[in-house]
Amino acid sequence: MAKQRVLSGIQPSGRLHIGNLVGALQNWVKLQDKYECFYFVADWHALTSQYSDTSQIRESVKDVLINILAAGIDPAKSTVFLQSHVPEHAELHLLLSMITPLGWLERVPTYKEKQLEIKDKDLGTYGFLGYPVLQSADILMYKANYVPVGIDQMPHLEITREICRRFNSLYGDVFPEPEGLLTEFPKVVGLDGRKMSKSYDNCIYLSDSPEEVEQKIKTMTTDPQRVKRTDRGNPEKSPVFQLHKIFSTKDEQQEAARGCETASIGCLDCKKILIKNVFKLLHPIWDKREILLDNPKRIDEIIQEGHAKAIKVASYTMVEVRKAVNL
Ligand code: SF4
Repeated sequence: MAKQRVLSGIQPSGRLHIGNLVGALQNWVKLQDKYECFYFVADWHALTSQYSDTSQIRESVKDVLINILAAGIDPAKSTVFLQSHVPEHAELHLLLSMITPLGWLERVPTYKEKQLEIKDKDLGTYGFLGYPVLQSADILMYKANYVPVGIDQMPHLEITREICRRFNSLYGDVFPEPEGLLTEFPKVVGLDGRKMSKSYDNCIYLSDSPEEVEQKIKTMTTDPQRVKRTDRGNPEKSPVFQLHKIFSTKDEQQEAARGCETASIGCLDCKKILIKNVFKLLHPIWDKREILLDNPKRIDEIIQEGHAKAIKVASYTMVEVRKAVNL
C-alpha cells in the first residue's frame, strides 16, 4: 500500500537555531520513515514579510538546506525542494485566491498579531494577507494527507481545509482534506529567557562554532537572586534550567535543581552540564554540515532530484485542477 503523504515547509528568514531543530527538524526526521514526505524551503513565504530587503534570502536558503540535511533528512526517503523552483505553486495560489473570501483571511489570528508585533515592516500588503492561500496551495498541490502542526498553527491548517472543501464543492473532488499531525513541541527559551527568536538576537544557531556555543551559554541569564556563589536560587526562574529540561537527562536536571536551591553548585558548573549536552546534540550536525559545505555540488544534485520529483507531482495536479476549473 502506498504511504500517506506529509508536507511541511520552513522559511528561509535567517539562520536556523536549536529551537527550529527540536521544534521542527527532529520531527521531520521521524516522519520520513512512516510517510512519503515532501519538505520544502518556503522562499516565497519569506517574501511576504521581507519583500523590502531580499539581500539575505539566497544565503538563508543555503543555510536552511544544509541544516535540513545535516539534521538527518535523507533525500533517498524524502523529497526536498525549493518552493520558487515549482511555479505551479503560484498558479494554484492564484486559482485558490479567486474562491477565498477576504473574511476568512482577516480572521486568521496571526494576521493581526504579526502586524502588531512586527513594527519595522509594513505588512499591510496583499501578499501578507494572502499568506494562508499560498500555504494552502503548497499543501493541496501534493495532496498531502497530513501536515505536522503545533497547536498555534491549527487555524492556518483549518483555513486550508476550508479552501479545500470550497474548491471541491465548486469544481469536483480534486483534493483530499489534509489533517493536522498535532505535535507537542518543547518551547525553547533563548539566552535571555524570552522565546528563542532571531528577532530577539538570543539564539544558539546550528551554524555557530563550538566556541560560540560555549561562550553563549556561559554568558546566559541566570536566576537574578544568585548574585554570589553562596546565594541560593530558584531554577524555575533561570533560562539555563529551562534548557536543561529539554537537553539534559532527568538525573542531571535533578542535580542542577538541587544544587541551585542549596547553592551547592555554581552557575558556571551548572552551565557546563548544559554545554556538554548541547554539544552532544550539535556534534553530529556540525560533522554533517562540514561534509556538505565541502561538497556544494552534492547539495545542487539533491535539490535537482527533489525538484524533479516535486514538479512531477505538481504538474500532474495542475492538469487535474485546470480541467476541473474548465481552463
Ligand atoms: S545554578 Fe543553574 S539553574 Fe540555578 S541560577 Fe545558576 S545556572 Fe540557573
